[in-house]
Amino acid sequence: ALSLRSLTKAFNEGAVIRDIDLDVAAGDCVAVLGPSGAGKSTILRLIAGLEPASSGTVALGDRNIDGVPAERRGVALMFQRPLLFPHLNALDNVAFSARSSGKSKRSSRLHAQSYLELVQLGDYAYRRATELSGGQAQRVALARALAAEPRVLLLDEPFSALDPQLRGEMHSLLRQIRRELSPTILLVTHDQHEAAVLADRMAILLDGTIAQIDTPHHIYTRPRSLAVHRMMGGIN
Ligand code: ATP
Ligand code: MG
Repeated sequence: ALSLRSLTKAFNEGAVIRDIDLDVAAGDCVAVLGPSGAGKSTILRLIAGLEPASSGTVALGDRNIDGVPAERRGVALMFQRPLLFPHLNALDNVAFSARSSGKSKRSSRLHAQSYLELVQLGDYAYRRATELSGGQAQRVALARALAAEPRVLLLDEPFSALDPQLRGEMHSLLRQIRRELSPTILLVTHDQHEAAVLADRMAILLDGTIAQIDTPHHIYTRPRSLAVHRMMGGIN
């Protein structure tokens, strides 16, 4: 569903990502791992249309979306922090994204309620965003991203601010959502365990290029270079 071809982004100091080719099939989850500054968030920002690429293309299905503005790309982005509208309740935060994908006011609220139930917050619909715990707010943010029914869901270290217990709960929830809705997911994470439990394939990003992309099992057992081996915590 998602294809990147020769995607390159340079800022003043030179290329941050270079010639990235990546395909995520419909319903698959690919995790992008790499050290800080490797260019992981930059890739997501280019796909979301928050920044223009220097060269290369982004396609969803057979449609090139390079010229398409962010709000019409059919892409949802979720960050480490939930970034909810603080003055709105949980339901209205989720309904907002359903509404912006073209639904009527009434149907977007019904739709939002069903996504809140999916993330197990059906009873918190009328709770203001500021009165939710960090974990609850992150669930609302996930419901909001899903309610937009995006063609691809981009997750930028979505669970890294949560404590280990909550993070584990979010992993179970995301696995359940994968089984029930099969969204196409590109997940950026620092957490190898998270990548291994959630993703079908892992892409190791080193110095702005994909050093290896493979199943978690193969990345661990057959790293293609010493750099990949080290990145995965291997010694020597
Ligand atoms: P982290 O794991 O710390 O989130 P990352 O892999 O997501 O890192 P990016 O945020 O993609 O890294 O940044 C990659 C490189 O691009 C960094 O060296 C960063 O300083 C640089 N960079 C990002 N945005 C800009 C910008 N707007 N202008 C100049 N340089 C930028
Ligand atoms: Mg980042």
